[in-house]
Amino acid sequence: ALVLVTGASGFLAAHVCQVLLERGYKVRGTVRTEEKAHYLLSLFSSPNFSYILVPDIQAPTAFDQAVKGVDAVLHTASPFHSRAVEPEEVIGPAVEGTRGVLESVQKINPSIKRIVITSSIASIRMPCTPGTVFTESTWNTHSPDVVAREGVNAPGIDKYRTSKVFAEKVAWEFVQTEKPSWDLVTICPPMIFGPLIHGVSAVENLNTSTAALRDGFTAEGAKTGTEAGKQAGTWVDVRDVALVHVEALAQDRAGGQRYISAAGPYSWQMLYDSVHALGKVEGLDMEKVPRGTPGSDRETVYDVYSSKKAEEELGVRFRSMGESMKDTLLSLREYGFH
Ligand code: NDP
Repeated sequence: ALVLVTGASGFLAAHVCQVLLERGYKVRGTVRTEEKAHYLLSLFSSPNFSYILVPDIQAPTAFDQAVKGVDAVLHTASPFHSRAVEPEEVIGPAVEGTRGVLESVQKINPSIKRIVITSSIASIRMPCTPGTVFTESTWNTHSPDVVAREGVNAPGIDKYRTSKVFAEKVAWEFVQTEKPSWDLVTICPPMIFGPLIHGVSAVENLNTSTAALRDGFTAEGAKTGTEAGKQAGTWVDVRDVALVHVEALAQDRAGGQRYISAAGPYSWQMLYDSVHALGKVEGLDMEKVPRGTPGSDRETVYDVYSSKKAEEELGVRFRSMGESMKDTLLSLREYGFH
């Protein structure tokens, strides 16, 4: 089967393409530039990987050519950063990109089997009491309210989260109103860590989640005191989220479902401890790995995003924090970004 992967040059999407190719799928990736296409061609060096240029995902017919002849679509392209001034800078590409993919499919290739969309726990998370367990049934109504109220003055992260809420909503609403013969699956990952395989021209251009992780492992960015022990977020390894995308594509029962795809909560202390617990690792200088404030997370009560549904229905397992951190740090070293 031929699968279209949008935003193939991204951190997550490159792994998604790789898993698809390993599984014997043919992959057509959309990219914004020839340069990114060439990087991917040499990364995969497979006759089963091809690309198509889609320079502007917001253009109304942007995906018309891309969807021709494919059997399924994995839509991952969407801006992930907190730098937007106008909320529309992130909401525009997220929403119009998603709508555009669905409309092109409906117009050009409506007998396709399935569309999988990368959403985020950003479209789920809400202010809560510590220890809350979130499932797929929650929708983030908080960030859209903040953005509606504060506009350009809203925190950048709420602009991003709103872009993910609106994009995912547009997709589910499209299915409801158009009643297409294909079905929809959405995947909601938390902060994604893990090794890089995509092209990154300079450390300043690292994808957002890897940049955040890297920063916390530098001498200047290392967290100390009580800060180290607080919940910093929820995480998952990029290889596992990629696998969830592919299982969501392959398994019949996934149709119409939303899946949280998370390994667990984290504090910086947990991340640091997980690396030190590995003992000696070839290629890693443990002296340079921050220690935080050991014990600072002892009483932390974590919010949890439950992946029970993905584990039970898709049969995926999420790898351990130590393994993921080791591979992430080694990868950053390989890229020259440690
Ligand atoms: P990247 O920034 O590495 O990838 C984003 C991809 O989207 C790239 O291919 C990028 O193209 C493309 N893209 C971004 N903005 C635009 C735009 N305006 N027009 C066209 N293409 C665009 O980030 P990730 O791999 O982390 O993100 C992939 C998906 O995963 C996104 O949907 C993101 O919201 C979601 N996600 C990510 C999480 C994380 O922690 N990393 C957590 C939860 C969800 P180009 O390479 O040309 O810049």
